[in-house]
Amino acid sequence: MKQQPPVKKNEYIDVAFDDLTHEGFGVGKVEGYPIFVQGALPEEQALIKVIKVNKSFGYGKLVELKSESRYRVNIPESELVKYGGCQLQHMSYEGQLNFKQNYVEQVLKRVGKLSEVEVLPIIGMEHPTEYRNKAQVPVGEKDGKLVAGFFKPRTHEIIDTDYSIIQLQEVNEAVKVVKEVCRELNIPPYNEESHTGVLRHIMVRYGIQTGELMVVFITRTNDIPHKKTLIHLLTKRLPKLTSLIQNVNTNKTNVILGEKVIALWGNEVIYDYIGEVKFAISAKSFYQVNPVQTKILYDKALQFAELTGEETVIDAYCGIGTISLFLAKRAKKVYGVEIVADAINDARRNAKLNGISNVQFAVGEAEKVIPMWAEKGIQADVLVVDPPRKGCDEKLLETITTMEPKRIVYVSCNPATLARDLQTLVGAGYKATKVQPVDMFPFTNHVECVSQLILKEGN
Ligand code: SAH
Repeated sequence: MKQQPPVKKNEYIDVAFDDLTHEGFGVGKVEGYPIFVQGALPEEQALIKVIKVNKSFGYGKLVELKSESRYRVNIPESELVKYGGCQLQHMSYEGQLNFKQNYVEQVLKRVGKLSEVEVLPIIGMEHPTEYRNKAQVPVGEKDGKLVAGFFKPRTHEIIDTDYSIIQLQEVNEAVKVVKEVCRELNIPPYNEESHTGVLRHIMVRYGIQTGELMVVFITRTNDIPHKKTLIHLLTKRLPKLTSLIQNVNTNKTNVILGEKVIALWGNEVIYDYIGEVKFAISAKSFYQVNPVQTKILYDKALQFAELTGEETVIDAYCGIGTISLFLAKRAKKVYGVEIVADAINDARRNAKLNGISNVQFAVGEAEKVIPMWAEKGIQADVLVVDPPRKGCDEKLLETITTMEPKRIVYVSCNPATLARDLQTLVGAGYKATKVQPVDMFPFTNHVECVSQLILKEGN
């Protein structure tokens, strides 16, 4: 018979912690049985309450710390609301960078069985707060009042707040003003359970280089009450506003954005620069949220691509063409592919905006479009991939190994799928030369990596 877990639900117990999960939970062991506790750190001892007991691991709640890690930062209870959505709020920045570096190294070894690849020291931020150029704030109702802020972890309860430690001041300010105006005009907040009300989310984006501000109202209905007054008040109170957009999402879903976009006032896009390249960004397109670190990330991607000016480059998962355009000046030709049509419209517009003519963009799934290009004789010398969290599609990896680009630059926001895909590519004749972690998301458990693969001789 299998051994029973050595702990019981609701039991109080002293635990020593020696590791962190990728979510940033402390890992403690009771007779070898792991218990995950949010807020606990390695090298700490704590009294915990067991809250969940599974067969091979459990969860606990921190009750009292008995000893503290050198990386611990104690935030007063009253300040905690500023850290909504920040899993690593209890860690010093040095501790956070250490944690991310270790996680990348461990996952490459454990998941990818890649013990030889060099993991370069993570590039952190000089000022790791107030970096996000975007907010996406859920709206609801509490005690008859419109509230907006962030979801209490693992619930759908909204904690009302006007300041987030990781958002740019301009973004915090805009969210605050939008909330005030919506309260003044009694715009009905969305009710998730009954699928009634109007305002579901407030989204704000800010171009840090241009000072242009976009506000997006994500609504359940086509109509917004007092629309004219709303526009009037916002344009008056937000001097940086250049684009006011409505996005309609009629579905009962957790997905934030809907299909329909209505320009309420001003431009449909805002502009921003990364390095020398100017970008138009529309409400529905993906754009990196940390502009300072994005420049560093793309510079690394450019460096790892080792372009001489003679190469054909394919940029898979290209979004609004950010990496494509960043590389275009140093390549013969760049092809970009992306699944969101609006993003490709932006990418084409962005190429024109910058007078870049050696790029071509296509809408579609990378795993379908790239084989079609290959049939037409378009072969990449250098391939860049920047997939979502789930990593590259298997079919795309197969195509890559038949196309055999000399170099691959893999940009990843999820080290676990990066490790898996690198293992596949290494198995198919590539050498993973280096992985560069970049901290794009201080105070959260996320880490971005850019890595280089080179086709081995004789392949
Ligand atoms: N390289 C861009 C975007 C990276 S985010 C940048 O740095 O800004 C990943 C992008 O992949 C998103 O824009 C998403 O819409 C797109 N995407 C997701 N699945 C895809 C697929 N199967 N084929 C092509 N693009 C896809």
